Amino acid sequence: MNGPLDWLGDLRPSLRASKEAWAAWRRLDADLETLAAADPGRGDQRARSSWLALIRRDLAAHVPPEGTGAALWQAGAQFISGYRDLDLREATGAGHGQMILDHAVPALADMWRARLAGGDLVGIAATEAHGGSRIQEITTRAAETTDGAWKITGEKCWVSRLEESSAFVVFVRDPAGQIAAVVVDADAPGLHRQVIDPAGLGGWTWGLVAFDNVTVDPEQHLLGGPGQGLAIFQSHFARFRPLVTACALGCAAGVLDQVRSMLVAKRATGILPRIRDNALIELGAAWADITASALLAFHGLAEAGAASDLAARLGKAHGVDAACRAVNRLAPLVGAAGFQRHHPIAKARFDLAALQYADGIHDSLYRSGGSELLRTVGSPAAAWGRAA
Ligand SMILES: Cc1cc2nc3c(=O)[nH]c(=O)nc-3n(C[C@H](O)[C@H](O)[C@H](O)COP(=O)(O)OP(=O)(O)OC[C@H]3O[C@@H](n4cnc5c(N)ncnc54)[C@H](O)[C@@H]3O)c2cc1C
Repeated sequence: MNGPLDWLGDLRPSLRASKEAWAAWRRLDADLETLAAADPGRGDQRARSSWLALIRRDLAAHVPPEGTGAALWQAGAQFISGYRDLDLREATGAGHGQMILDHAVPALADMWRARLAGGDLVGIAATEAHGGSRIQEITTRAAETTDGAWKITGEKCWVSRLEESSAFVVFVRDPAGQIAAVVVDADAPGLHRQVIDPAGLGGWTWGLVAFDNVTVDPEQHLLGGPGQGLAIFQSHFARFRPLVTACALGCAAGVLDQVRSMLVAKRATGILPRIRDNALIELGAAWADITASALLAFHGLAEAGAASDLAARLGKAHGVDAACRAVNRLAPLVGAAGFQRHHPIAKARFDLAALQYADGIHDSLYRSGGSELLRTVGSPAAAWGRAA
């Protein structure tokens, strides 16, 4: 039987992962296989969300081995998790809590290091009704009180891990009007959550977070310095997006292997006398698409600890698009069976479609990548000179 380690094995010459990293990936895959036995299925969202939270706690010991590239190992872990189900994208790792580890004052960072290691989850609350692609225009506001505390007022929408998160990193306009990132406990007085039913990525709850004069202490809860919010957002997503991409491509690889096994079984049992060319072509094209996009997702993770922001943005848009394309082309080969609401392939299609919005909407990512490519081009005059 094929598995996610076979896919990573095909990338091995380009991955530069240590022996220890491969061994840790194999252990993670084996533990996920064992834990899958208790999966309550996709019909009951509450039961599924509790099971996913439990998995995260059970797998808390799965961290990058000493001396291995943490970002590369985590990307491999995301591929392995996504191969089984995109809902497992929080199975390991600090996730959005990484912003706290990187930018909080030492006492808060230490507290969250312990909580994340115990399986707690941190959400991100950035998007507002005017549009998530324009974070510069956020209106959620922190007003300063006479004792120096901040009172946060406003509303965030489309927030994932809504009810499972113990805290949110919230992007607000600080009293000076600059964008700041603050840590807000999920049970802080004045914080209200409203669940919305999503069409994809429904394993974790999703919806609105309203802030009605929620108090934070900037000395404790502000990440980075004043006005550092946008820089934190960008540096976090430069690291986070390759992980999202790896998870999405793992999901598409899992679908390809399901289709492959189904076709082989149908031929073995004589249901199909032969496999037609159209199926062979889809399988071959999807394998190439997934593998090429995975190379871009893993690109540079081993050396720098994180891909460049440009590779992270374009790699996410391209990789999730490739995963959607592969699954949309493979799904018809399964027939109507794959169209059942809780079938893993139907779920993968919805989940991947949702990922074209979550963590960066794709047209915006391509557009910002394109404009960066124009900004950073060498002197146009010199280029024309050379061409002439
Ligand atoms: C499943 C899921 C999970 C999510 N999880 C989170 C989360 O945990 N936390 C969080 O903060 N957010 C989350 N989001 C929100 C996500 O980050 C946003 O969907 C994304 O940033 C895009 O924002 P938007 O949907 O408001 O679209 P918009 O920003 O409104 O963009 C929609 C379209 O309008 C276009 N557009 C924008 N400006 C212009 C213009 N001037 N002219 C023409 N067209 C324009 C865009 O390019 C795009 O095509 C999630 C979304 C989904 C679907």
